Amino acid sequence: MIGYIYKISINNLNYIGSCRNINNRKESHIERSKDKNYSHLKLYSSNFNLNNFEILEKKDCIDDNDLFILEQKNIEDYDTINNGLNHKRAYLSKENDLIERRKAQKKYKIKNKDKCDESVRKIAKKNKESGRFSCNICNYNFYSNRDLQRHFKSKRHLNKLKIF
Ligand SMILES: [Zn+2]
Repeated sequence: MIGYIYKISINNLNYIGSCRNINNRKESHIERSKDKNYSHLKLYSSNFNLNNFEILEKKDCIDDNDLFILEQKNIEDYDTINNGLNHKRAYLSKENDLIERRKAQKKYKIKNKDKCDESVRKIAKKNKESGRFSCNICNYNFYSNRDLQRHFKSKRHLNKLKIF
């Protein structure tokens, strides 16, 4: 796929974007500039126009991510988030992505603690009933492998071993 990196300058402030089709993207920018849902964005908040639209790069890209990486590089080169009209990063590395996902998971667990505890309890109950973690010597079922391993080291179990 062919991808483009473009720059829009308004009042000496730059916006960096990427697209596959330049005319379509120009049209969508114009539509968005008239749409109240986008009016909070720096790009559209004052005097939006395409008088200074410039193509910076044309590249044969492997996929969209490939294009986003190039876009992100230009956003950083032109510093358009802090000193321009871009409002977010185009590309987060996979590593950052993973960190964000882990954060979200942690948040979910805290927010849904009761639900998570409940499912842990259910699994433990099922384990015990099914005898998945059981000691054949003591003839006893445990809630988890951790409990079973702890049991193997317990006096109760070791004494039983001596008897046999
Ligand atoms: Zn035992």
